[in-house]
Amino acid sequence: MHIIDVHSHIYPEKIADKASHSIADFYRIDARTEGTSAVLLEEGRAAGIDVYVVNSVATNVRQVRRINEFLLSEVRAHPEFRGLIALHPDMDEGAIRDEIEWGILNGFKGIKLHPDFQHFYLDEPRAKKIYRAASGKLPILFHTGDSRFNFSSPGRMAKVAEEFPDLICIAAHFGGWSEWNQVGVYKGLGNVYVDTSSTLAFISPDEAKRYIDYFGAEWFLFGVDFPMWNASEELERFMKVDISLEEREMILWKNASALIGIDLE
Ligand SMILES: [Zn+2]
Repeated sequence: MHIIDVHSHIYPEKIADKASHSIADFYRIDARTEGTSAVLLEEGRAAGIDVYVVNSVATNVRQVRRINEFLLSEVRAHPEFRGLIALHPDMDEGAIRDEIEWGILNGFKGIKLHPDFQHFYLDEPRAKKIYRAASGKLPILFHTGDSRFNFSSPGRMAKVAEEFPDLICIAAHFGGWSEWNQVGVYKGLGNVYVDTSSTLAFISPDEAKRYIDYFGAEWFLFGVDFPMWNASEELERFMKVDISLEEREMILWKNASALIGIDLE
């Protein structure tokens, strides 16, 4: 059995503490720990995680290059890491394409976007520059859902996936944080996966099983959303969901291994 965590955040040492707190404030939870690579690896090893797909979100255009260089240095330093580049919808289309080419050349596996933090509507024209450039090239992990706002609702996500059939989308948090019961909007689209992060503490194992059965285990990817959550605790919650061993293996690593191209035997 392997485990791939498709959704974890890391921050440069200098700002890790501050960044972890601002995210915690946003979601009105207590900041649990510092979001550094060292802590991610320590907690992940205890849970038996083999591979971590790491990201960091750029809240403005100026941060994009700095964050991507930081992620590259972390991925190079830790063989267990695979990276997702940061982009921002205010970049022009040429700069977006250049950044994607740079990411592919340097072995990045996808892109991370967080509409709620980056203040854009998931389906607005500004963001479509990114979807055009990424189609057929790199999957995008989207933060999705928040019943307090409307930036990244499952409905907007589904619209984008429909408009860009060659874009592989990973809709985080069972497809919509705090809007978990809407996972059905993705059914049949064929280019939307969902991850399990920041969800299993909020819904019951029975509810999680219902969504997995309904949408299909082949579309689910295990994610921790470090530093919000501890890997062992997230894994324990996932193990309480009553699905078959085959489905468990698909969600824990086989789907991600095939989708992102991570060789594990
Ligand atoms: Zn995230």
